Amino acid sequence: MNTEAYKIYLDGVIQRVENARISRSEHHIVKIVAVSKYSDEAEIKALYQIGQRAFGENKVQDLLAKSTNLNDLPLEWHFIGTLQKNKINQLIDADPFLFQSLDSLELAQALQQRLKIKEARMECLLQINSAKEESKSGVMPEIAADIYAQIKENCPNITLRGVMSIGAHTQDQKIIQESFETTYGIFKGLKGADICSMGMSGDFELAIRCGSNMVRLGSIIFPK
Ligand SMILES: *Cc1c(COP(=O)(O)O)cnc(C)c1O
Repeated sequence: MNTEAYKIYLDGVIQRVENARISRSEHHIVKIVAVSKYSDEAEIKALYQIGQRAFGENKVQDLLAKSTNLNDLPLEWHFIGTLQKNKINQLIDADPFLFQSLDSLELAQALQQRLKIKEARMECLLQINSAKEESKSGVMPEIAADIYAQIKENCPNITLRGVMSIGAHTQDQKIIQESFETTYGIFKGLKGADICSMGMSGDFELAIRCGSNMVRLGSIIFPK
């Protein structure tokens, strides 16, 4: 793939994000995280060279390997996958810019314990299972605000920045929209939260119209 192809893809995505955000408000700013989990280092480098800075991975070992091998580039790494408790130390060592998928109070407490020992800090989003799907991780919407407050209170080495959610897994736009509105409603009620991460390749425009200010785009951003 040549640079021109990456540019055409990325410019197309940026234009779509731009249209969606303006339809919400001229003042609504949206950040694009390029999800590189199916992409290699050459592809990440190609996107970096045309201006993309934020990348997301969903496996701790991939995050560590890619961020280490590309550490001469000023990239911003996001962890967006399910974190097994036995991988906590590896995630702390990878030192992500943002851990988007903190999905339970228990995990927060285990992370807090390790962060304290390592004298480290981590910025995180609380993942919410807004569509209440069996297959998804995240806290249930009814208890999300309470869990968020408990983490803030009990985990001084964790800085919560807001919430993350995956849209409902269906073709029904109304149900997807409801799941985004649920997440956004919780986000609005959290004091000091500034990141609402929702929207993937198939539903990011709807997510932005529902208030998302961070989209995680994989397949649509990496030409294959
Ligand atoms: C893979 C993944 C994405 C990107 O998915 P696409 O549909 O390829 O854009 C976004 N968020 C999470 C949590 C993912 O695992």
